[in-house]
Amino acid sequence: MPSGSIISTRYDVLRLALEAQILQLQGDDSDVELELEVTEYVLEEVKHQGLTLDASKILDHGGSVTMKEAENHPFHSILKNALVELLGLEEHDSVLCTSEVLEVYAKLCKQQDGDQAEEQDPANTIQRQKKGALGECELCERCMMLTEHHLIPKTTHQELLRRGIFTKREMQTRISMLCRPCHSFIHAKIDEMALATTYNSLDTLLSRPDIYKWARYASKQRGRDPAHGVAHNLKNRR
Ligand SMILES: [Zn+2]
Ligand SMILES: [Zn+2]
Repeated sequence: MPSGSIISTRYDVLRLALEAQILQLQGDDSDVELELEVTEYVLEEVKHQGLTLDASKILDHGGSVTMKEAENHPFHSILKNALVELLGLEEHDSVLCTSEVLEVYAKLCKQQDGDQAEEQDPANTIQRQKKGALGECELCERCMMLTEHHLIPKTTHQELLRRGIFTKREMQTRISMLCRPCHSFIHAKIDEMALATTYNSLDTLLSRPDIYKWARYASKQRGRDPAHGVAHNLKNRR
């Protein structure tokens, strides 16, 4: 992860998508260091081969990548080598992993484009100020530029109000301040309705092995201020 909190390039997006998938390939006590090396190796290879991943093509197909498409994708041969040679995975698992990485990547690219459009909109000055605040991310506990995460995503409010699960006020005020990588990771892994109904607190989010593992990993990466790099509370969660 680069030291800044804003995911600036498509390579950073791809790195996040790769980490999201590779970190959970081997269960809880896998070799995180090795998995991150594999991520870097794959990124280097992608750069070296000058491979451009067109997210809009993936999204044109409804955001999903079939096994056949994944297998024939030039990205697959890079990822396959790394997964089979370095992590000892079976070849058919690498196809599944390729399709998942490409799907998460496309989703994150879409999100990134949305963020940029919002930032360039002069009407969004207040929003921008809110976003720009430096503070401790509630998930990884690094000192980073923070973004607002609605624990009950806005897109679900109407439906949940109809079902009478939360009050309007509750839904509007349940907010968590997260750094961009943590925020993106959560949205890449969990759909909005599941966030709203099941994973609507930091504790329930951290009860998921993938989120927990991510938070533990992210907490060790460099934030804006190295003095705040240690995650105290996270260690006591389990
Ligand atoms: Zn974070
Ligand atoms: Zn969010």
